[in-house]
Amino acid sequence: AVKTVEDIKAAIRDMNIGTISLQFTDILGMVKHVEIPADQIDKALAGELMFDGSSIEGFVRIEESDMYLRPDPDTFVILPWKTFEGRRTARLICDIYNPDGTPFEGDPRYVLKRVTAEAAEMGYIMNVGPEPEFFLFKRMEAEQGHPVSTDRAGYFDLAPVDMSEEVRAQIVLTLQEMGFEVEAAHHEVAPSQHEIDFKYADAVTTADNIVTFRFVVRTIALKHGLHATFMPKPLYGVNGSGMHLHLSLFRGGENAFYDPETPDQLSEVAKQFIAGIMEHAPAITAVTNPLVNSYKRLVPGHEAPIYVTWAHRNRSPMIRIPAKRKLSTRIELRSPDPSANPYLALAVTLKAGLDGIKRGLMPPEPVEGNIYRMSAAERKERGIASLPGSLAEAIQALEQDPVILEALGRHVASHYLEAKKIEWEVYQTQVTPWELQEYLMKY
Ligand code: GLN
Ligand code: MG
Ligand code: MG
Ligand code: MG
Repeated sequence: AVKTVEDIKAAIRDMNIGTISLQFTDILGMVKHVEIPADQIDKALAGELMFDGSSIEGFVRIEESDMYLRPDPDTFVILPWKTFEGRRTARLICDIYNPDGTPFEGDPRYVLKRVTAEAAEMGYIMNVGPEPEFFLFKRMEAEQGHPVSTDRAGYFDLAPVDMSEEVRAQIVLTLQEMGFEVEAAHHEVAPSQHEIDFKYADAVTTADNIVTFRFVVRTIALKHGLHATFMPKPLYGVNGSGMHLHLSLFRGGENAFYDPETPDQLSEVAKQFIAGIMEHAPAITAVTNPLVNSYKRLVPGHEAPIYVTWAHRNRSPMIRIPAKRKLSTRIELRSPDPSANPYLALAVTLKAGLDGIKRGLMPPEPVEGNIYRMSAAERKERGIASLPGSLAEAIQALEQDPVILEALGRHVASHYLEAKKIEWEVYQTQVTPWELQEYLMKY
């Protein structure tokens, strides 16, 4: 529902809202906010609130640090868990502007808006439905760096085995109160692992929703003495957390991925979009799988993809085509994980797909068999590439992909690459407990 300035002012009056949290994200997808008393709302909505951008990750240098927040009225929502002496808190997601009134290039939301505008010029709107997974660990232990599970349950298990069921139910209720249409919530395969799926929306709305989702999940978990983590692979030897993305392009009211005339009822545009994502897969992985730890999820045997393939039935490829057709025709990208900055992740994914359409690329044949059982030679012969094996490989691929770099824009690309290179270098020089255990006594 589109909200106007008048709606917001009425809500502030009628719902006893005392505080507004003005939110945005840095390039790593961390939510930042500044709180204002509700009586400052006119100034805020007029885009007159200034903040110092120099202390925000990936923003600007000290000498050019003034930035302005422009709240997006559509994102106005009351935070259900927050009341102080009867007064409530609402939040607004903001776009960031330079003092001269131009959009700030380092704002991830602007990066995504730039790519969705490019799609709109071609006549398309991308819809995205995410499937974020996460773990719930005991809070005190998590603070000490130990992931201690709250249960030993598995896929779709029911309480009383699943002790987190109550927490999950409260997360779902809170999300619903905030206007989310939750479609499913269930225990995942690993102990203490959960998934909550909510309804698709256009790319910018879904990125906003993912950011909101992550902080709702963490807030409610904390109230139960738990820590919710979107770290992709917190436990060795069991599944990690992914964030599958269901993607479709709409043109007018029509699903541009659907074509009743083709054998698989996928349109040429759908095929080109798939081909574009496959072509740029190594580079976009640096953004959709942003952590050193992300690559410990992308290993055989844990339902995460390793090869750049697509398929209809099989669930091991990077891209799966769900059976739904007509208006629900979509592709499911299975490589992203929930630690990604959703604005940047959707921007690079959309850009890759659009590039496939522009260049009229065609994907190779779908691989319906079990790729894990193929030999390296067989994969090579069939032209099956692998996803990057580490953050270092992904960064290198990103540096060599001008289309994806263009999607990020110069500002974000350079800050992102710099931050990720440091992250890799620091990691690479660590001496880990595993190494000590394996080598200290033996050599
Ligand atoms: N957890 C798996 C992953 O890492 C996905 C499991 C599933 O939803 N099928 O992607
Ligand atoms: Mg699912
Ligand atoms: Mg799942
Ligand atoms: Mg899925």
